[in-house]
Amino acid sequence: MTTAPAEFAIVPSSRPRTTAERAAALDRLSFGVEFTDHMARATWTVDGGWHGHRVEGFAPLELSPAASVFHYGQEIFEGLKAYRHADGSAWAFRPEANARRFQASARRLAMPELPVEDFLASIRALVETDLEWVPATAGASLYLRPFMVATEPFLGVRPSHRYEYLVIASPVGPYFVNGFQPVSIWVAEDFHRAGPGGTGNAKFGGNYAASLLPQQTAYARGFDQVCFLDAGTASNLEELGGMNVFVVGADGVVRTPALTGTILEGVTRSSILTLLADQGTPVEECDIPLKGLLAGIRDGSVSEVFACGTAAVITPIGRLAGESFDVTVGDGAAGPVTERLFTQLTDIQFGHAQDPHGWMQPLV
Ligand SMILES: *Cc1c(COP(=O)(O)O)cnc(C)c1O
Repeated sequence: MTTAPAEFAIVPSSRPRTTAERAAALDRLSFGVEFTDHMARATWTVDGGWHGHRVEGFAPLELSPAASVFHYGQEIFEGLKAYRHADGSAWAFRPEANARRFQASARRLAMPELPVEDFLASIRALVETDLEWVPATAGASLYLRPFMVATEPFLGVRPSHRYEYLVIASPVGPYFVNGFQPVSIWVAEDFHRAGPGGTGNAKFGGNYAASLLPQQTAYARGFDQVCFLDAGTASNLEELGGMNVFVVGADGVVRTPALTGTILEGVTRSSILTLLADQGTPVEECDIPLKGLLAGIRDGSVSEVFACGTAAVITPIGRLAGESFDVTVGDGAAGPVTERLFTQLTDIQFGHAQDPHGWMQPLV
C-alpha cells in the first residue's frame, strides 16, 4: 500500500536564535551539543494511527512519569546528516535506507512503523525550516536524529498504545579536527552488546545502554573505543558500540563481519561494500575470528583495520588490545585503503564527486 506523504505543518519557533547567536554556535561545532531552533514530530495512537505531523520550536517534552519509555525502554533512533553543497543546496545520503531501517527497528521493538515517505518528509521539512543551521564550512554537516519513544502512561508490560516520533538536528564539525587520527580499541571479552535473537540489529537505545559500562572500562584503561565479540563463542569480531568494522588484507581482500542478526547493518558499511565492488576489490562478508586477526596483524597479512558509521564516516584503527594481547596495526597510522574510502565517500556526500548510485537526495 502506498500513501501520500504527510504534510508537516510548520509552526515557527517563538524564540529562534538571532543571526549572531546562530553564527556563534556554528563557529564552535562539536558533536551533539548545539541544536537547531526547530524539531519535527508526529504522534501515533491505536485509534488515530500517525497524526499531528508538524515542525515546531525545539523545546522540552511534557511526558507522564508513567510513560512506558521510562520503565521498559521502548526507544529506537536513526542518525543521518544533511550536507551543504557549493551552490547552497542541502542533501541527504541514502535517507531511504535510514527510513527502512527505522521501520525494521520498530518491528523488532513492537512499535508502529513510520511510512518511509513520512520519514523523508519529516527530514525535508526540518532541514528546510532550519536551513541556515546547515554548516557551510568544510567537513561540517547537520546531524539529524530521528527517534521514537513510547509515551503511554501505563505500567503494564505490553507494547505502548501511544508513541511520539521526533527529529532533532545538531550542527556538527568534521570528526577529525587534526587530520585522520587512528583510534585504539579495547576488545571486550567479558561483555557483549547483543546476542542471537536479541536486539543487536535494531537501532535501539538499550543496545547503547548495554555498551556503556564496557566502553567506560576501556576508556579508563586508556583506549578510545570497545570492540565486541559474538556472544555465542566470544571468538568472532562483531562491531564497536556504534560502528561497523572492516579488515583489509595485504592480499587486497577486504573483509567485514557478516550480518548474522546481532550486528547493526550500517548504511556506511553497505556503501563501502558497494564502492569496493565498483573498484573490483574482492570483498567478503564472513566470520572474522579474533585469533586469526591478531595473527594476521602480527605477521603483516592484515594491513589495515577501520571502523565506519555516519558520525565519523571512517575511523582508522591503529591498535587493538585485550586482556592477553596488544598489537599495532601496520605502523599504527591510517592506511591507503582506509584513506581512499574516506575521501571517496565524503567527496560524494559533499558534492565534490559523481554519485553513480544516486545516493544523494536533495532536501532543499
Ligand atoms: C548506527 C550504528 C552503526 C553505523 O550505521 P550507519 O548507518 O553507518 O551510521 C553501526 N553500529 C551500530 C551499533 C549502530 O547503532
